[in-house]
Amino acid sequence: MPLGHTQWEELRVAPGEPLHLSARATSGTRFLDDKTADQDLLGFNTELAAAQELLYSTGSRALLVILQGLDTAGKDGAIKHVMSGVSPQGCMVTSFKEPSREELAHDFLWRSVTHLPPSGYIGLFNRSYYEDVVVVRVHPDRLIPQPNGSREPPPASFWHHRHDDINAFEHHLDRNGTQVVKLFLHLSKEEQRRRLLDRLDTPTKHWKFSPADLVERSSWSDYQAVYEEVLTATSTTWAPWFVIPADDKHVARALVAWVIVRSIEAMDLVPQTLSPEKESAIKAAREQLLAE
Ligand code: AMP
Ligand code: MG
Repeated sequence: MPLGHTQWEELRVAPGEPLHLSARATSGTRFLDDKTADQDLLGFNTELAAAQELLYSTGSRALLVILQGLDTAGKDGAIKHVMSGVSPQGCMVTSFKEPSREELAHDFLWRSVTHLPPSGYIGLFNRSYYEDVVVVRVHPDRLIPQPNGSREPPPASFWHHRHDDINAFEHHLDRNGTQVVKLFLHLSKEEQRRRLLDRLDTPTKHWKFSPADLVERSSWSDYQAVYEEVLTATSTTWAPWFVIPADDKHVARALVAWVIVRSIEAMDLVPQTLSPEKESAIKAAREQLLAE
């Protein structure tokens, strides 16, 4: 079954409608066959390379892709496989880790700003300022310093204000030429268990394991509830969220690539037309080289 408008709408979080993650499948096999997903991915890779070239050559707009998901959801693998084929000169990937002291001394959006893609580029955030409404909401003790100096968990309004600030920030980006598209890799708890075990059983994957992964896993249901609220509050017409079923890596990667390709297509970029001067310069240069 080819991917089209119906699948797009099924993956998207409709602005203003409450998202229920438990009602969204973590298996993506009703979107794509897992046996042929790698083939689909190759096709989308080719389309993405062409779309990126068009983005670069028109030079007037940028695309910001935000990838979120729990540990082992497949963010790194998706970046590696989806961006293969895209010119490294046309894209920039930023991975956001725990903020430094300097970053914490600023407002929560500050550190993202210098990593935003300039016109013509695809910028990809591996985690983002969404951590500032997710991980620190699940663990309010990590929210240091708090604006009012309090060590108590902040009231709900504190988080709602951050959602409003994110929506305003993304609206600002959209109005200034940067299309924002956000992907949540939706994993089941059982598949995370399998992937963590695989990390422990495979020596070459040991570097990926962090004991913190199990700590975060113990807050699984808190994360689901917080993501549900955040995605509902911040899926907008100008910066929509997509919930990507992540239990099948190959299907997930193909779907991520597809959503990115369609997002660039939806920007309706018009290939630059040549000025008469440039057209005659090309003709002259061609004749000169042929005459050599
Ligand atoms: P990884 O993606 O496995 O390299 O882990 C990065 C870690 O940094 C995760 O535990 C994130 O939750 C954490 N992190 C990223 N951004 C923030 C943030 N703004 N505030 C707190 N923790 C963060
Ligand atoms: Mg990790």
